[in-house]
Amino acid sequence: MLKNRLKDPSLLVERAYIDGQWVSADNGDTLDVVNPANGECLARIPALQGSETRRAIEAAERAWPAWRARPAALRAALLERWYEAMLDNLDDLALIMTCEQGKPLAEAQGEIRYGASFVKWFAEEARRVYGETIPAPSGDRRLLTLKQPVGVCAAITPWNFPNAMITRKCAPALAAGCPMVVKPSDLTPLSALALAVLAERVGIPAGVFNVVTGMPAGIGEELTSNPTVRKISFTGSTAVGSLLMRQSANQIKRLSLELGGNAPFIVFDDADLEQAVAGVMQSKFRNAGQTCVCANRILVQDGIYERFAARLVEEVGKLRVGDGMESATTIGPLINAAAVSKVARHVDDALSKGARLLCGGVPEDDSQFVKPTVLGEARADMLLANEETFGPVAPLMRFRTEAEALAIANATPYGLGAYFFTQDLRRSWRFGEALEFGMVGLNTGLISMEVAPFGGVKQSGLGREGSKYGLDEYLEIKAFHIGGL
Ligand code: NAD
Repeated sequence: MLKNRLKDPSLLVERAYIDGQWVSADNGDTLDVVNPANGECLARIPALQGSETRRAIEAAERAWPAWRARPAALRAALLERWYEAMLDNLDDLALIMTCEQGKPLAEAQGEIRYGASFVKWFAEEARRVYGETIPAPSGDRRLLTLKQPVGVCAAITPWNFPNAMITRKCAPALAAGCPMVVKPSDLTPLSALALAVLAERVGIPAGVFNVVTGMPAGIGEELTSNPTVRKISFTGSTAVGSLLMRQSANQIKRLSLELGGNAPFIVFDDADLEQAVAGVMQSKFRNAGQTCVCANRILVQDGIYERFAARLVEEVGKLRVGDGMESATTIGPLINAAAVSKVARHVDDALSKGARLLCGGVPEDDSQFVKPTVLGEARADMLLANEETFGPVAPLMRFRTEAEALAIANATPYGLGAYFFTQDLRRSWRFGEALEFGMVGLNTGLISMEVAPFGGVKQSGLGREGSKYGLDEYLEIKAFHIGGL
């Protein structure tokens, strides 16, 4: 039993959190939360619908005036305490995450640190919400800008980062003075509820942070149709993001959308081979390949292709697939059977179109463990070059010229993360500027950190999270004209 393994068993809750109360669904319905490594039912969470969501929105609305009126430094002080509480409970939060999501425990611990870093960062940024004075067109006027909180906000978050995708939204919202209603993925709600336990414990007032677990469509309809919700921040697939955008259109709600990607990872002949291999290991295989910025298409120039492929296969051979609770594991299970089927479909399609299996392969049993796989001679007409594979599969595509690499890299409706490896200074600038992506890594496979803006262009979304820009998503700019002076 998961509860028995926690130092603080009270972090595992089977109730939603609305207006400072721990609640069940009105009709008593529940959803099972299942460990993807072994199918064990970890908990039963309330299957809330629209009516309970409405109550959460009303609670947030009641909490708003006092929360926005609280001086920024005092909001920041509470966020600092929330941050400390996350770090104090890091082991338990990571254990809950590994059990419900599957990622290796060390990665889960890394995510808790990463998730907490947003809380710390925005606690600091809360004190720097500066307006400005604008030179007025005449002597009897003055003109200012005020930055004010947007109002009641909602967050809808995915299963692949059950902690950080919540803190990346809630920390800036709370820092700016906006209360939040969070709908976590129904696959990983326990991490969200544990965050709510800590929020309550450190004294974040009732109604400021609410977690509604349950039925995505019913909750989503209420969040998008209720006029009290001024803004929705969503991280997940482009299909659901597009649906929420349509649903929000009637009320012209503000939206932040962090959607899918199809990241190119380009290795030029002049790259540092070891750096490039390390970069692809970091970007491709973290979270078993289930991240939105995972290298999805690995483009390798002719002159380095054979050496790169050989070194990559060697490194991939060191990965260990297994239950995330085992210390040797570096690749956990995929989130569910549908995720495994998608990977199998992509690998089958690639092999049938002439790709070469360099290591790994299609899953042979019905478990959710997928062997890390490297495919050689992948091409742009294969499924895995056009859709997110979201699994530990690295397809290598051969290219000859820089122009060809750029054309392939940009030939996608997505524009989230991109990576390239070269030691040529002029190419670094030229190519970095020409990539149509929101985030570009040059000679690095790591592009997510709280101090840098995270977000995409094209169908990868709208808005930026993290950095000083992340706060703007939760602020309105008011022009304040003073006349008759
Ligand atoms: P998903 O779109 O299926 O689900 C995301 C969230 O939306 C979940 O909470 C889900 O319950 C909810 N949802 C589903 N249908 C809904 C509806 N009709 N109304 C309201 N809510 C609904 O995505 P996922 O499978 O959980 O996550 C994987 C996807 O997320 C991938 O495409 C990945 O690239 C993307 N992602 C993007 C980022 C980013 O920052 N851009 C980060 C992580 C994941």
